[in-house]
Amino acid sequence: MSDEDLRDLYRELILDHSRKPRHFGRLPDATHTADGINPLCGDKLRLYLKVEDGTISSLGFEATGCAISVASASLMADAIEGLGVESAESCFASVTDRLTGGTSDLGAPLEKLAALDGVRDYPSRVKCATLAWHALHAALTEDPNPATTE
Ligand code: ZN
Repeated sequence: MSDEDLRDLYRELILDHSRKPRHFGRLPDATHTADGINPLCGDKLRLYLKVEDGTISSLGFEATGCAISVASASLMADAIEGLGVESAESCFASVTDRLTGGTSDLGAPLEKLAALDGVRDYPSRVKCATLAWHALHAALTEDPNPATTE
């Protein structure tokens, strides 16, 4: 597949996830929640996790914001459902590293997250893409303060 085909595929994937976000909505029996704010773009997100026996058994989110922030939350939700808390934390580390220009390998559960690689050229968009991940980290570490990208 050419680079251009791949870019088109990624653009489609992001549009699809922003229009029809997966796991959208409040999770009534959540064990962990966190808010995330990206003041730069105005993106807001609330993440709900249900953690059972160290595994994220289900999750949901509510979000208002740009297409990138919503698509990123949707892709994240798909990728981490069913993962152990420690694996989810290591995903947080590799995704935020990669989106901020690092060389972390995303590996199988995060394969689709490569769709967001394009934002690396736009520092202001990086915060839109990492917002959901910061909220995930805040929820898992039970940080009482809202996660912010600033
Ligand atoms: Zn945004």
